Amino acid sequence: MRIKEIRTRVARWKGKAVPLPPHFCTNPMDLLALPAVSMRTFTFHSWLIVEVFTDDGHVGIGNAALAPEATKQVIDCYLQPILIGFDPWDTEFLWQHMYRKTMAFGRKGIGMAAMSAVDIALWDILGKSAKQPVYRLLGGKMKPRIPVYASRLYNIELGKLAAEAEGYKEDGFKAMKLRFGWGPVDNAAGMQRNIDLVRTVREVVGNDIDVMADAYMGWTLDYAKRMLPLLEPFHLRWLEEPVVPDDIRGYAELKSCGRIPIAGGEHEYTLFGFRDLLDAQAVDYVQFDTNRVGGISQARKIAALAEAHYVPVIPHAGQMHNYHVVMSSLNAPMAEYFPVVDVEVGNELFWYIFNGEPRAKDGFVDLEENLPGLGLTINEEALKQSSKLSNEHAPPSTKKRGYSACRSGARASPATACRGFVGLPAGKHRCRRRSKAVRDRAPKGHAGTLGLRSHL
Ligand SMILES: [Mg+2]
Repeated sequence: MRIKEIRTRVARWKGKAVPLPPHFCTNPMDLLALPAVSMRTFTFHSWLIVEVFTDDGHVGIGNAALAPEATKQVIDCYLQPILIGFDPWDTEFLWQHMYRKTMAFGRKGIGMAAMSAVDIALWDILGKSAKQPVYRLLGGKMKPRIPVYASRLYNIELGKLAAEAEGYKEDGFKAMKLRFGWGPVDNAAGMQRNIDLVRTVREVVGNDIDVMADAYMGWTLDYAKRMLPLLEPFHLRWLEEPVVPDDIRGYAELKSCGRIPIAGGEHEYTLFGFRDLLDAQAVDYVQFDTNRVGGISQARKIAALAEAHYVPVIPHAGQMHNYHVVMSSLNAPMAEYFPVVDVEVGNELFWYIFNGEPRAKDGFVDLEENLPGLGLTINEEALKQSSKLSNEHAPPSTKKRGYSACRSGARASPATACRGFVGLPAGKHRCRRRSKAVRDRAPKGHAGTLGLRSHL
């Protein structure tokens, strides 16, 4: 079996989105003096879809939500040319080739997100080729079903927040996570408002349900240290991303306080990144996301490393690429679950793009035993409809600089690796803006960035 083609496309939400009020959730930009409308820049309403085709007819599906337009370019220009013609069963060799090819710029961030999306697609192929769900390739079921926690509860009016938490309790969730809305620039009054959020959820769900809280990198070490004693009475299961991911010492200091377990890692990358976190005793919970951390090939190694440290793994986000790792891991007691809601932040967008994501029932998701691969398909019908609504190739800001984000066709020859760009012969491959002649030959209405209807 050989890799024949790799296709990438960005699905962009063009429908109505729920506007986010100021302080909807904390984030790293909170320390900057930005206007209140800055919550708009927090949303991400596009998603990268990767399809890897083999010469014997299998199609592996991967995805990435991190900077999808840029991630797509990494795959089209740097990864696709070195993967064509190889056997997808050689996942470790291919991962190492991608990693070492992009070493200078790809170790963290969008380079690794691109590798992750491809790696996930390769594992999907392996499962389909072996006619087995991916979790069986990773060791099989370690639990009959996967307990999941409801992950939403943003900073909204307290009565509505209570009602939302009550709803999750009634749906059978045994754990749920809320978001803080206030950070260091909001002073002592903001700290009290954060406490109000936690108190509201704790009071409505009682003590038999786990409550977690997420600062999403929006605090500082000093602020977090002042918050810990205020939060302690509510016995949170964990405090998530209290400081920026580069502040490993800050994480370790907060963990050493021993007042509330500390969780992090959704913005950390590769086995090396988690080795550093675990060596520093910086986290009580590891939260990699398989579609950022290096794909399933890295996620399973990090899960094993965490197991040796007796640190539980509870990945960021639900989604199949994480569920299959959780299902097959001893030390992955639970998974995150983004409820199906109207498009708001962007976390929920995958529900609109893919078919096959399991819905939570009584606080659990289950994985089909007879579904080979990851069990996902692309909702092509929705994407087809949406192409009538949108024919954009790139965000306006990049268009001005002459870029043209493209729906790449898979190309066996590196010379044409990036549709929309002129490639150079193998060995000299690099991306350039496509010539006018090439642009004129492009099919009319070619949709590089797909929009989606608001009601799918
Ligand atoms: Mg988080």
